Amino acid sequence: MLEEIVKQYIHEKGSISQSQFMELALHHPELGYYRKQESISRDFTTAPEISQVFGELIGAWATDIFVKLGNPNEISLIELGPGKGTLMKDFLRVAHNLYPPLFQAIDLSLVEIHPELKALQTSIHHPNIHFAERMEDIPQTKAPLMIIANEFFDALPTDYFMRQENQLFERHLILEQDQLQFSMTPIEEDQGPDHSWEYSESTHKIINDICDRLLQQTGVFLCIDYGYESGQGETLQAINKGEYSNPLLHIGESDLTCHVDFSAIKNIALSKGLGVSGPISQGSFLTNLGIEARFNALKNQNPTQTAQLNAAHSRLTHPQQMGSLFKVLAVYSPSTLLPEGFQT
Ligand code: SAH
Repeated sequence: MLEEIVKQYIHEKGSISQSQFMELALHHPELGYYRKQESISRDFTTAPEISQVFGELIGAWATDIFVKLGNPNEISLIELGPGKGTLMKDFLRVAHNLYPPLFQAIDLSLVEIHPELKALQTSIHHPNIHFAERMEDIPQTKAPLMIIANEFFDALPTDYFMRQENQLFERHLILEQDQLQFSMTPIEEDQGPDHSWEYSESTHKIINDICDRLLQQTGVFLCIDYGYESGQGETLQAINKGEYSNPLLHIGESDLTCHVDFSAIKNIALSKGLGVSGPISQGSFLTNLGIEARFNALKNQNPTQTAQLNAAHSRLTHPQQMGSLFKVLAVYSPSTLLPEGFQT
């Protein structure tokens, strides 16, 4: 059992950090949540799975970027964590029907760790598709770049720190009478005001890689996820069989995530001189891109499905559903590219 393996690590090391725990729970080669067949049933529904309109609008958004990039002969399109591949299928259908030069220019790379999801993604149809387990395995090219990540960064291991009375603490997992327990472990002296924050080393590495590629190749990175723009403490959560759960129960059976720190991503991009738009709420982004008109067209074509279509529209955009917790950020080069959808 994965719980025993986690305990064994703690026996050996005294304690492990929150990110080490997440790494084990999500990515243990046999028992980690993202490595097992069963986790495919998913513990939640993502935006592209709620409605085809989500991926379609991103396809239309990308078409505008493609034209702004000068209709290149080749464009390297990377999706991080495509899940069941739904977003990419809707995206490619729009590219194919709306603007064939984009469809033909695409060289598609899918970054996926889950073996069964990888298998599902083979149903995405495009003449140039490559698979990679990590973005760093995708070679850089001279072609402009588009990178899309929906609900990818929330799945990356994250640590939690607190500074109190000039002492830095890190959230660790310890054993208390053989029971797993979180504890704020003193790390070192650290001068400064009392404060707490999350930090994801994995996110920083990938964002640095993305920014360096954008500087070399030009293009855009679109990040959609639930998250915050200014610190809000500790956000680790577990979802088990569709219900919120204790992260220390059902290890390897629960989806563990943290909210994404959008200001951290934005600051890396700005420090490298890239253009940044957002974060803007998902509701505003989709509304700016014309979600209402697209749903109206679908309702006209399928009047019997009006109620379901209205419900999907509301799930994607209503502030009490995905509309305001989910946010959208674009990073781009050249900084004059100015993607659509971010006007407030
Ligand atoms: N984008 C999809 C799925 C989101 S779930 C959607 O919107 O429906 C997160 C996705 O990222 C899954 O496909 C998961 O297998 C993948 N993933 C999680 N951690 C990963 C990692 N470290 N490397 C590559 N893929 C990862």
